[in-house]
Amino acid sequence: MQDLGKNMLIAGPCALESREQAVKIARFVKSCGATHFRAGCWKGQNYPIVDGKPAYMGMGYEGVNILSDIQAIVSIPCVTEVQNSMQYDFVRDFPFIQVGARHMQDFPLLQSIRSNYNGQVILKRGFGNTIDEWIGAAEHLGGPEKVILCERGICSFDRTSTTRWRLDMVGVAYIKECTPYRIIVDPSHGSGDRRLIHLLTKCILPIADGLVVEVHYNPDKSPTDARQTINFKEFEKIADEYRRAKVSNEYERFD
Ligand code: PEP
Ligand code: MN
Repeated sequence: MQDLGKNMLIAGPCALESREQAVKIARFVKSCGATHFRAGCWKGQNYPIVDGKPAYMGMGYEGVNILSDIQAIVSIPCVTEVQNSMQYDFVRDFPFIQVGARHMQDFPLLQSIRSNYNGQVILKRGFGNTIDEWIGAAEHLGGPEKVILCERGICSFDRTSTTRWRLDMVGVAYIKECTPYRIIVDPSHGSGDRRLIHLLTKCILPIADGLVVEVHYNPDKSPTDARQTINFKEFEKIADEYRRAKVSNEYERFD
């Protein structure tokens, strides 16, 4: 199996909105050096109605077709989250799938993926779950060969600041030093605030095996996770940090 967990810069919008939107963002992030394009086809929403309007739930299977086309046209491998076992059947030609924070302990889903899906899985940490529970979930999926862990912030008592979740860098260091798992980090969900992404990236790059960031050409118009989504100019800076870390290889973590 190809080892996908190292040196990854995964970027793209929180939600796939249209073919044009996805192609434009995929082309841009690729031109900056992103290794993978991300976009949510199925968006589970905390609240079905937001400000009196139905929440955006994604493009579903139509979105998967768009991502398949992007792999061919833009030549960048794609990743999307799956929420049930019917969905992953449709993303078999992607190098890996994502299991989201809200499904981290969906054991029937994890076991079904383990038995039926041959690719690797990015397993996001549930925001209310301990590291042990996260590793337990990874074992349900088949262990370190099959799973790339993704830290995306956990619940904190402090919600007075702008952050919705709190990136757990102790957890990241622990996974890196004390377990055989690969670990990538998502500062977008981990902070909930686009102003913090650049600085967080500088903290993450020396430690983690990769980075996931939400990017949009017009972040404020993004139907989901707008506040944490960065624009193209900001992504250029992130890609630059990534490139510099890779070139200097100061921490000897790039292959
Ligand atoms: C996402 O990646 O857009 C997402 C919904 O992430 P999480 O499962 O970490 O909330
Ligand atoms: Mn998101």
